Amino acid sequence: MWIYLNDRFVKEEEAVVSVFDHGFLYGDGVYETIRSYGSRIFMRDQHLTRLRRSADAIGLTIPISEHRWPDLLHEAMTRNDVGHERTDAYLRITISRGAGDIGLDPALCPTPTVVIMTKPLHPPSLEQYRGGVTLIVAKTRRNLPSALSPQIKATNFLNNILAKREAIAAGAFDSILLNWESHLTECTVSNLFFFKAGRLCTPALACGLLDGITRDIVLSLARESKIPVDEGYFGVETIHKADECFLTNTSMEVMPVTMVDGHPVGKGTPGLLTQQIHRLFIANRTHFLEP
Ligand code: PLP
Repeated sequence: MWIYLNDRFVKEEEAVVSVFDHGFLYGDGVYETIRSYGSRIFMRDQHLTRLRRSADAIGLTIPISEHRWPDLLHEAMTRNDVGHERTDAYLRITISRGAGDIGLDPALCPTPTVVIMTKPLHPPSLEQYRGGVTLIVAKTRRNLPSALSPQIKATNFLNNILAKREAIAAGAFDSILLNWESHLTECTVSNLFFFKAGRLCTPALACGLLDGITRDIVLSLARESKIPVDEGYFGVETIHKADECFLTNTSMEVMPVTMVDGHPVGKGTPGLLTQQIHRLFIANRTHFLEP
């Protein structure tokens, strides 16, 4: 695998980062995961904008000028023989504070570390789409936005990892995290939606969650199709009583959820409205690819 590291592509064995990197020492950094459909990157500019927003929020200057990103991402795909008609690409950009003496002051690190990795995208299996996945409600709460905003896509992912550990221990696909007021937020790497009486519901951004790029597309497509949408504050009982439930993220698109906390959601099979949303997404996704 070829990895872009700081200023050039190197072979995987040479892609080594210092033990003094503050990304390693303190989780001080930001990242994005992106995908392609064939050679075309999905919502490229939106992902790069969110990367910049995350970096700005922690006072980190991205040492790559805006105009270079498209070529760098495409070179990463070409070198790794992904992002063509046979294999969609998974891409991850990581920018850490860089190497510096031990201590929290970012000024100790003069140069951020930049990494671009790509590999074949492995979407969830057909069985998962056909059967839906199971969730639990985690005991771990989502970070308080005023302590660490979930809108910063930070390399410090422990909040999500602790909730994922709970899901794994319970034999579930993933965990739903509640916020400080016991409102639903999101799952560890995806946004949460549910249907109740024909209305599409999803936790409002103010509940403390990442403004997922797929979430945004799903909301726009639903509104265009005149499906009533509620972005709001929902307690855990609403998910237990939902008719249908699904998750969204860049690599899964729309994933049906058929069980929460051991109770079936609706009929316990992927719902018809969820399937309609996924079909809408698939029918429209070429509009969201780079030219
Ligand atoms: N929520 C969290 C915590 C995530 O990490 C992600 C994806 O990385 C999402 C939601 C979904 O975001 P997107 O649709 O932009 O992939």
